[in-house]
Amino acid sequence: MAKVYFSSIHGRQKSRLESVERLFDKAGFADLIDEDDLVAIKVHFGERGNTAFLSPLYVRRVVDKVKAAGGRPFLTDGNTLYKGSRSNAVDHLTTAIENGFSYATVGAPLLISDGLNGHDYLEVEIGGKHFDRVKIGSAIREADAIIAVSHFKGHEATGFGGAIKNVGMGCGSRAAKQLMHSDLLPTVDSGVCSACERCVGWCPAEAISVRSAAAIDYDKCLGCGECTVSCPKGAIAINWKTEPQAIQEKVAEYALGAIKDKGGKVGFVNFVIDVVPDCDCWSWNDAPIAPDIGIAASTDIVAIDQASVDLVNSTEGIKGGRLTDPYSKDKFGELSGIDWTSQLAHAERIGLGKRKYELVRVG
Ligand code: SF4
Ligand code: SF4
Repeated sequence: MAKVYFSSIHGRQKSRLESVERLFDKAGFADLIDEDDLVAIKVHFGERGNTAFLSPLYVRRVVDKVKAAGGRPFLTDGNTLYKGSRSNAVDHLTTAIENGFSYATVGAPLLISDGLNGHDYLEVEIGGKHFDRVKIGSAIREADAIIAVSHFKGHEATGFGGAIKNVGMGCGSRAAKQLMHSDLLPTVDSGVCSACERCVGWCPAEAISVRSAAAIDYDKCLGCGECTVSCPKGAIAINWKTEPQAIQEKVAEYALGAIKDKGGKVGFVNFVIDVVPDCDCWSWNDAPIAPDIGIAASTDIVAIDQASVDLVNSTEGIKGGRLTDPYSKDKFGELSGIDWTSQLAHAERIGLGKRKYELVRVG
């Protein structure tokens, strides 16, 4: 049975920042790091306008512990599929710094894992139900170890967003995010296309030809999504159509690709605080649905998410917000109508971890 170390924030007058350090020690994260290891601290820098994302002050403590263990940490996240404030590395880094993730605050450099425009990835063979190979941002793939620091909250596509979502969706390249969100093949809006031919250069299948506008040969198209993310005009629309079960299983398979071949050098910290109903990818955030609960740490990505969702569901929710029933034992299901167990079940099925856990309380 997997161990999940948990520090409650209730009934105690202790620094939450010191709790992060204690959890790092108790969960044995120092043992995951060898001298001079390049350690990816996978975070979510928050969309511009959002304030629910995890405070850089928490992340700083993880950075300091990684350094003390002999590692060389860097903070990282992948570019977003949609055009927002984090869809290329320049905007992404600017947003991260504006949100407080400067070197002066966090004590480590920032790297965007899939490069300037999301094309910097390495393929990892996983032999999954949905993907035979996955596209993992190079900085993640090449890191010696990963510590994923996740803000636990609701999510409109996966029910809840925890460590599996942070690692799975977050470590995939931009095109990979398209593949997770939909199985549909791309279509060109010829009224928007400027015939610049940029997509032609990114298509691995030579499936695009351009006359007055780009045209896709569907006998050749692999559905890889590279054209969608390379078009500067947005002429190849993002497909969001997906089934909740499929996207959750795909995210779990990407999480497997991200941590595969790390030799077990992966740790997870979930902050079950500021449990808002939606992802930190939005440029706003609604009021939390539950009171702040605590911080968890584990080397098992499945166990820590199962424990986190159990903690939220066993706590009385906040009245007056988006929850209609604050006593609900399935708060994320009530909010989204999604059966969020799919991500946990598939993650366990593919060997990512165990849903059964022992909650070890840390003072
Ligand atoms: S989805 Fe991939 S293979 Fe298909 S046209 Fe776009 S770039 Fe080419
Ligand atoms: S990159 Fe976009 S605008 Fe340029 S040819 Fe392709 S679809 Fe048209």
